[in-house]
Amino acid sequence: MLWDDFINSEWPDWKKGERSEDKLESDAWLQRFITEHSLLAPPLLTDEELKFLRQLRALMLHCVQRIVGGQSLSEEELTQLNAWLSRGPVIRRLVPGTGKPFALSSSPVNPGWEGAAAEIAASFATALAERDLSRFSICSNPNCRWVYYDSTRNRSKRYCEDKTCGNLMKVRRFRAKHASAASEKQGPADKP
Ligand SMILES: [Zn+2]
Repeated sequence: MLWDDFINSEWPDWKKGERSEDKLESDAWLQRFITEHSLLAPPLLTDEELKFLRQLRALMLHCVQRIVGGQSLSEEELTQLNAWLSRGPVIRRLVPGTGKPFALSSSPVNPGWEGAAAEIAASFATALAERDLSRFSICSNPNCRWVYYDSTRNRSKRYCEDKTCGNLMKVRRFRAKHASAASEKQGPADKP
């Protein structure tokens, strides 16, 4: 999904929590992001664009934290989200479809990062409107905090990945319990 790919664009140091890596500054990440989500934006960000994308990401993260904490969004938060949405009006067109008579296409009035930011906000707003809010989650590894939508049947997913954070936390719990005996144990492998 567009919104969760974007909200997780700041990669944490999930093992030690020492430094994070902002993927918005990576050309390769940005190119992949644009292609994968069919965004009409150049693969380079000006300082101004980087700044407003970070503001949008911080707002989205803040909203998810509220929701995960069982709270609703305040009027102020809604106003802010709506301001992002209004930055990217779209033009809709009915066009011939593939495999069916018609398809509805929409293209941004303002192409570029201004319109792309609105698309990202719209993806997030759609998720808030249409999905189950109790399934919005944040990885329980305090150094990770990866945002995900828990689609497991009984909402049992506690970590972004069992192989990485799940194992790391298991090891940590084990170490805390058997501090001396477990000192040789290694952490899990790197994330792909
Ligand atoms: Zn994690």
